[in-house]
Amino acid sequence: MVLEVKWCGLDYGECIMNGDDVRNVILFGDIYKELGKPELIPEKIKKYRVLKEKYGGYPVLHEGHRDDIYGYVLDNESDAIELFERKELELKTTGEGLEEALSFLQLEDIEVYVVSEMKKSLAPLGSDPITRFLTKHGILKYFKGLITPIGKINYSNSCVDSRYIGLTKVEGTIYELIARDLEDQGIQTGEAVMIGDRARTDIDPAHRRGFKTIQYTGFTDSGQSKADFVIGSFLELKKILRKKAS
Ligand SMILES: [Mg+2]
Repeated sequence: MVLEVKWCGLDYGECIMNGDDVRNVILFGDIYKELGKPELIPEKIKKYRVLKEKYGGYPVLHEGHRDDIYGYVLDNESDAIELFERKELELKTTGEGLEEALSFLQLEDIEVYVVSEMKKSLAPLGSDPITRFLTKHGILKYFKGLITPIGKINYSNSCVDSRYIGLTKVEGTIYELIARDLEDQGIQTGEAVMIGDRARTDIDPAHRRGFKTIQYTGFTDSGQSKADFVIGSFLELKKILRKKAS
């Protein structure tokens, strides 16, 4: 079976971006050594563990609750935050075959957006951690834009759409507005596909609103979902997705 679509939403954490190496608490040791305050290391590592426990793990903490890392662990110290962001960016990688799959989607003329649960960024959209990651890995050119609870940015003209502020994936409100915007473009919800690793945020709420869905298990496996397909490699997208003719 092949899914014929005109639009594709891709999740960020543990989908486009693999953060396995950032999970490591050694990161905080490096930061405070570099800041000349090694005596703070044990306390920082402990606080980071507390947050990971509170939010149920690394991906949710880093994508949805960065403000807590900045405030509770890094004491809102700008030097520490800057170092944290830089080191984090160095440690993050992308999944195998991602660029080949993105290039395929571009050739098919399927519009691709990042759809992320990023709730806070110190820098404005366009200089945020996700955009910086896409730029660093040379894959920004494959994306039309980025949709998050702090707004939607169109990368071709840098316009920020504030109607998305406060909408979330888990409640599905972000998918409802995406669906309305697609309809204005003449695209039906069933001609759009959402790809992500988490059933609760990427798959089930999108599926309920009529999107096609693909669960990516290359980095994590969040278990059963309502996904139309489950893939372990992005290269499988080349067999599954086709451009829907108008
Ligand atoms: Mg994710």
